[in-house]
Amino acid sequence: MNVKETDRTYLSGTYNRFDLWITRGKGALCYDDHGREYIDMTSGIGVNAFGYSDPVWAEAVARQASLLQHTSNLYYTEPCAALAEMLCTRTGMKKVFFSNSGAEANECAVKAARKYAAAHHSTESYRIITLKKSFHGRTLTTLAATGQEGFHTRFLPLTEGFLYAEPNDIEGLRDLVENNKVAGILLEIVQGEGGVNLLSEPFLKAAEQLCREHDLVFMIDEVQTGNGRTGELYAYMHYGLSADVITTAKGLGGGLPIGATLLGERIADIFEKGDHGSTFGGNPVCAAAALSVLSRLDDAFLREVARKGDYIREQLSDHEVSGLGLMVGIKTDKPVSEVIKSCMDNGVLCLSAKEKLRLLPPLNIEWEQLSRAIDVIRACL
Ligand SMILES: *Cc1c(COP(=O)(O)O)cnc(C)c1O
Repeated sequence: MNVKETDRTYLSGTYNRFDLWITRGKGALCYDDHGREYIDMTSGIGVNAFGYSDPVWAEAVARQASLLQHTSNLYYTEPCAALAEMLCTRTGMKKVFFSNSGAEANECAVKAARKYAAAHHSTESYRIITLKKSFHGRTLTTLAATGQEGFHTRFLPLTEGFLYAEPNDIEGLRDLVENNKVAGILLEIVQGEGGVNLLSEPFLKAAEQLCREHDLVFMIDEVQTGNGRTGELYAYMHYGLSADVITTAKGLGGGLPIGATLLGERIADIFEKGDHGSTFGGNPVCAAAALSVLSRLDDAFLREVARKGDYIREQLSDHEVSGLGLMVGIKTDKPVSEVIKSCMDNGVLCLSAKEKLRLLPPLNIEWEQLSRAIDVIRACL
């Protein structure tokens, strides 16, 4: 089969694919249809936490698939309950809603915030403040939450009720809170798609404080930053923040689709029966995959993730590098597409985020592979 031709004929033209057909992978390595090897510094956009076809992960998935693959949410299943418990135990959050993607995890957060504001303030207080350059998903509501006009224009009207603050502008944020009827604030600790921009600690603390002062729902989108990516289990843990809602997805399932919306003490009981749902949410195979991923993200492993991030920053100290842990943005002199192309020609797969080169390697990438990949990247920069 001519895969590239068939794909171009039958797939909706939404994706600008690289001229690369990946046929299999092992750890941080993958192979194309000619058997050529690549070091993958993308991990499926931060999804394959333990790389390709990790044996421990694959065993957990295969075992669950051959035991019970799906039941619907009309019944109890063990992986779903155990995963919710693990997420709550390790974050201090109180309840979890499971979905299938980051966008859905954020949709749930928006619904929770609106319901909270309607109950505690008024039905007029439905506005949610997000940040410019943010990215929260592709559904009409999460597109509206995404503070980048380029994503909006062709799909109007979007869900109303989103206001955009300038990242790191505390006064601007305070103005929006004080001059509008607001339900909550939603932000990423490191803006991923928006250019791997780490928010300042004073700004994060101010956002949390404003939420406390005005009884707003403080929501942190950890879809990309979560599940060990930044060297802590969740990125908010670097700053000791306490959120009302944490959303996550991407790396959680290690390659299977699962999203989670974690609800803190103040908002834990916001949803009642019938308020929200998802056919696949908490699917036993995806939950077993996530349990396998999370249970391996212990302190020693997370320290190693942080060390690998430090290593990348040391090796690229001649360049402007942003991000946190193994979420890395690099300013390039050449157009980023050229850098990505020459890296690929030299056997290393990389991403972009706006005008920056973005690296999201598997968390367990071997040191030797990391060092080889960084040598190639440095030469191509
Ligand atoms: C990828 C991403 C999303 C959307 O996740 P999907 O699974 O593609 O719906 C939302 N927020 C952030 C921060 C992301 O990086």
